Amino acid sequence: MSSDSHTLDGRSRCGPNMVSPWLKDAMSNYNRESQSKVDEYVAQVHLPGKILESILSWAFEALPDEILVGLEVDEKQHHLPEVGARFSGNKSQNNLFAGQGLVISEAVLMNRGDSYSVHHLPEEWTDEIFGAERGPRAGRFTHWLHTHPNCVAIPSDADAEAAQSTDGIDMILGIEFTPEGFNPWFDNVEGERRKLSRENRAILGIAPTGHRIHSLELIGFHKRGMAINVVLIDDDGQAY
Ligand SMILES: [Zn+2]
Repeated sequence: MSSDSHTLDGRSRCGPNMVSPWLKDAMSNYNRESQSKVDEYVAQVHLPGKILESILSWAFEALPDEILVGLEVDEKQHHLPEVGARFSGNKSQNNLFAGQGLVISEAVLMNRGDSYSVHHLPEEWTDEIFGAERGPRAGRFTHWLHTHPNCVAIPSDADAEAAQSTDGIDMILGIEFTPEGFNPWFDNVEGERRKLSRENRAILGIAPTGHRIHSLELIGFHKRGMAINVVLIDDDGQAY
């Protein structure tokens, strides 16, 4: 394997529509664990691997800052029924949030900064930027995702508060990297951890910024506090 294949900059070596092999493996592992825990979740969202890879590359480029990403669903693209059935557990509920049952189709990098500034995005600002191109719904996205540089993917009190104005769900992507700078990896947090990668301090890859990436975590949650299962899908809507 050449050192190039470890570059986590979103420039795929296998063509524009294929995600990196390391990420494919990580997503398969993640989905396997999601499937084994279906009864812990009340609902699911389907996130294409291609979109996750774009978000990862923005996140790495912004290190050590956090980023905030707006996510939109495709009204015409429903979860594949067989995949939906596989990830649906005995606590599943319908009509919990906006965009439930629809595949995520678009991600827009909305903000970058420290944990305070990424959560305080004035709505007028997004209306002005996206009002024209996003039509009557203006700047509001269905779902939101933000990163936790060197912190586990578990919602803080501020995250829970920010989620109250989300129509869909909120997602958190935790990234463990070195050199740690001012943000040493903080592991001692109560809550359910969901890892995208299992290697213990091994190097998953090198970000374009030169940071070494050791692990990734991803969770989804509803504003009422329930965990939402994130299912990572390919271009055909099948789970990795
Ligand atoms: Zn947060």
